[in-house]
Amino acid sequence: MATTITKENLYKKVNLKPTEYKSDQEVRWCPGCGDHAIYNAILKTWSELGIPKEKIAVISGIGCSSRFPYYVDVYGFHTIHGRAGAISSGFKTARPDMSVWQITGDGDGLAIGGNHLIHECRRNIDLNIILFNNEIYGLTKGQYSPTSRFGQITKTSPYGTIERPFNVGQLVLGANGSFFARTIDAYIKESVEVYKAAEYHKGTSVVEVLQNCVIYNNGAHAEITNKETRKERQIWLKHGEPMIFGENNDKGLILENERLKVVKIGENGITEKDILVHDAKTDNLGLHLMLATMSYPEYPIAMGVIRDVSRPTYDELMEKQIDEIRQKSKIKTVQDLLNSGNTWEIK
Ligand code: SF4
Repeated sequence: MATTITKENLYKKVNLKPTEYKSDQEVRWCPGCGDHAIYNAILKTWSELGIPKEKIAVISGIGCSSRFPYYVDVYGFHTIHGRAGAISSGFKTARPDMSVWQITGDGDGLAIGGNHLIHECRRNIDLNIILFNNEIYGLTKGQYSPTSRFGQITKTSPYGTIERPFNVGQLVLGANGSFFARTIDAYIKESVEVYKAAEYHKGTSVVEVLQNCVIYNNGAHAEITNKETRKERQIWLKHGEPMIFGENNDKGLILENERLKVVKIGENGITEKDILVHDAKTDNLGLHLMLATMSYPEYPIAMGVIRDVSRPTYDELMEKQIDEIRQKSKIKTVQDLLNSGNTWEIK
C-alpha cells in the first residue's frame, strides 16, 4: 500500500532564515521591479513554513519572472515557454513528496501556456502556481499580453489593443480551479499569508500577483495600489469575516438582486450585520466569480484568498488507482510484465 502524502507528512520542518534559501547567483531583475518583493515574500514564506530546501522544486517557463529558479538554492527547472505547467504536473505526480512552486507570468502562463494552466486547474494537481501579472511582456521588451488593458498602446499595439483581457480569477474559476487568491508584489506581509494558504491548500493553488514592471508598464496597477486611494480600491478578504473596506472601514458588500453591491455602513439603516461574510470554502462558484471579477470604479478589487475549496487531487487519485490496480493484477513489477506471456524467445 502506498503511503498517503498529506500536508502534515509532506516534510519535516527545518529552521532556516529566508536568506538561506537564496542561491549564489546575482539577481538580474531591473532595479525597482516588483519581482524583487515577490522573491523576498516567497523566501519568507518557505522560512516561516520551515520547508527543507531539498523538498522544494521551483519550475518556471520563460519571461522575467521565470528567472526565479536561478536565485533560489532549491531544486529548479527553467523550462521552455509556457510549458512550466506540463513539467510541474509531471514532476508532482512522480514526486508527491515535494512542495512544487510553479513561477509564471501573464504571457508565459496565460498565452503560450494558457492551455496547460487551465488543465492544471481542472485536474487539481497539488502545486502552487504564482502568476506575476504585470500586464505586459517584459523580457521581450514591451509587447501586449493577454492581461493588457483594452486600448493599451504597446510596441505591438501602437494604435491600442483591440483585445479584451483575461481576468485571471475568472479564467481559473471557469476551469474549475479549487484555489484562487490575489495579492500585490510590494505587500510582503499580506503576500506571505496568501502564499502560506496556497501551500496549505491541497490541490492546484493559483495566486495572481499584481506586479509592477517599472520599465515597460510602470504604474499598471497604480489605480489600485496608490497610497492615497488604496483603502477605497482594495478589499482584503478573510474567510469567516465580513467583507468590509474603505478608508474608515465603513463600506461593505451585500447581495442585492443576485448582484454584489457596495454599501455604506450607517447609511439607510445598514449595519455591520448586513454585510456579507466571506466564505472561501463554499462551493458557491457564482459568488467567488463575482468577487474575483469585481473591478474599479464600481467595486474595490478583491484581494487575499477568494476561493479555497476541498476536492480530491489528481496526484492522490492517481496513486490510489495505481495501488488498486496493482492489488488486483497478477503483474506487480516490470519483471512480471516482461514474463507475462506476450513475450517471445528469439532463437
Ligand atoms: Fe521587471 Fe520589467 Fe525589468 Fe522584467 S523588464 S525585470 S518585469 S522591470
